[in-house]
Amino acid sequence: MKKHNFNPGPSILPKIAIENSAKAVLDLDGCGLSLLEVSHRSKEFQAVIDEAVALFKELMNIPANYHVLFLGGGASLQFCMVPYNLLQKKAAYLETGSWAHKAIKEAQLFGPVEVVASSSDKNFNYIPKNFTIPTDADYFHVTTNNTIFGSELRVDLDSPVPLVADMSSDILSRPVDVSKYSLIYGGAQKNLGPAGVTFVIVKEDVLGKVTRPIPTMLNYKTHIKDGSLFNTPPCFAIYTCKETLKWLKAQGGVKAMEEMDIRKSNLLYDAIDNSKMFVGTVEKESRSRMNICFVMKEQYKDKEAAFLDFAKGKGMVGIKGHRSVGGFRASLYNALPIESVQALIDCMHEFEKANA
Ligand SMILES: *Cc1c(COP(=O)(O)O)cnc(C)c1O
Repeated sequence: MKKHNFNPGPSILPKIAIENSAKAVLDLDGCGLSLLEVSHRSKEFQAVIDEAVALFKELMNIPANYHVLFLGGGASLQFCMVPYNLLQKKAAYLETGSWAHKAIKEAQLFGPVEVVASSSDKNFNYIPKNFTIPTDADYFHVTTNNTIFGSELRVDLDSPVPLVADMSSDILSRPVDVSKYSLIYGGAQKNLGPAGVTFVIVKEDVLGKVTRPIPTMLNYKTHIKDGSLFNTPPCFAIYTCKETLKWLKAQGGVKAMEEMDIRKSNLLYDAIDNSKMFVGTVEKESRSRMNICFVMKEQYKDKEAAFLDFAKGKGMVGIKGHRSVGGFRASLYNALPIESVQALIDCMHEFEKANA
């Protein structure tokens, strides 16, 4: 049976990126060795990471005074590296979900944190508006897409202090004005590549301002200086990122991704909004295009488990909602074809017909 992969992360990747990565595992670009057994300091691997960085810069239109890094440790290690490198007096954070909350907790280990606004009062079902970014903060941190709760901040804010963003789950889904940010990071495993690698886009001038000593491996300057090759990087994962970026470019780039992501998410949100049985959990103007969260209306609540079973039988994978929201979550990352969205909608209609 054909599987429709709505996993929240690790998640669906372009088929061609997987096939080309599999070929490189057998023989890296004709060099006679596997991608898994070449030196990260070989000219073959240098060409891989150079191409990944160049494609990332080209596709995201990253200005020349920014560096692109591929590191280990996940977005979760960035929760620590960001304050380690940037927090001197005080940091400001926007609390829009569990990941933002974890980032705040980590920053509090390094200094005072002002939470400028939070949507925790409504189980994070909206993005706060009309907040003021304190001008005395060292930086302001936002989570652009809340993978668990399904809300998204799609404006590149004007910030009076350096803007830092966790873009783990909506990177490359819309054109971003990178020049408005000082640092952007994320785990690759939602929209860019496989698990195991973390991307960081950092502007040189935001670094070097804290007085604390920073361990070598946690210092962005180390990785900038050595082009992400201070220590052994996650070579395989970087290769697949490069292949995903090549695919994305061939599709027409970030603008084309955005158009498709709008079509896919509108299709599913319309189906939810017109349904007797299902209802969205996020306020309309804060809805994510990447992670669509919905539940069953009160009178059908007892049918949620039955729908999950039914959907599974039709090849739907990964649509169970996170335990903090319940219900369902369909992740519509770039590589997910619109046919899969339609298949899920068909499945919802069929279930509704039989049960509502
Ligand atoms: C998945 C996710 C993380 C955690 O990423 P790891 O790479 O597992 O550490 C952090 N932030 C957001 C927004 C995420 O979606």
